Amino acid sequence: MSIYPALLGTYGDGGNVLVLRHRARLRGLHLRVTEVNPGDPVPRTADIYVLGGGEDTAQVAAADYLRTDGALSAAADRGAAILAICAGYQLLGERFPDAQGNPVPGVGILDISTDRLPRRAVGEIVCRPDNPAVPGVTDLITGYENHAGATHLGPAAAPLGRTLHGVGNGDGAEGAVQGRVIGTYAHGPALARNPQLADQLLSWAVGRVLEPIDEPEVTALRKERLTTV
Ligand code: GLN
Repeated sequence: MSIYPALLGTYGDGGNVLVLRHRARLRGLHLRVTEVNPGDPVPRTADIYVLGGGEDTAQVAAADYLRTDGALSAAADRGAAILAICAGYQLLGERFPDAQGNPVPGVGILDISTDRLPRRAVGEIVCRPDNPAVPGVTDLITGYENHAGATHLGPAAAPLGRTLHGVGNGDGAEGAVQGRVIGTYAHGPALARNPQLADQLLSWAVGRVLEPIDEPEVTALRKERLTTV
């Protein structure tokens, strides 16, 4: 389920659902991909919800729609998998800055809050995953970041990993995990560069650990991206 792709889909983040469908198909699984637009009810029964990055104003609008709708919070409570990138990640938290830098309320699914970094973070990001709640993700996470937000985690959330290159949350950690909700600053799209992350979401959705599948194009892409840093 792709949430508000018109508001949240910067830097190719719309590719994440395509990768999920592709990796499912490699296992003979059929994934039905649907999009929900602002104002339409967010479906309550999806297995995986995906949110991308966005501009500050679009981000505020998306947060307002999602808070009013309520279905995404209910989905998180029932253990559905959620992947949220950058603006999508920030807006799942308690608060984040609007375009003027004033704090506005998020959806309150993740125990995180976001304020401003001293300087905008732009460039490649590499993170070493170290979150036991995401056991299928062991390889370095590679992505592209472009954000002004610094994200602080509360006790209910734990980082996805440690930032080896780039800025991530801004304090040496990157991303957040809480239940089956994963937030990260990695565009790329993240699932194209990090197939283990895609397979983790799919494994949660099907209720069993999917066997790894290597694709030479992905191995080459990862190598190329990781060598640039
Ligand atoms: N507007 C947010 C920020 O600048 C998120 C940007 C994005 O999603 N790329 O921090």
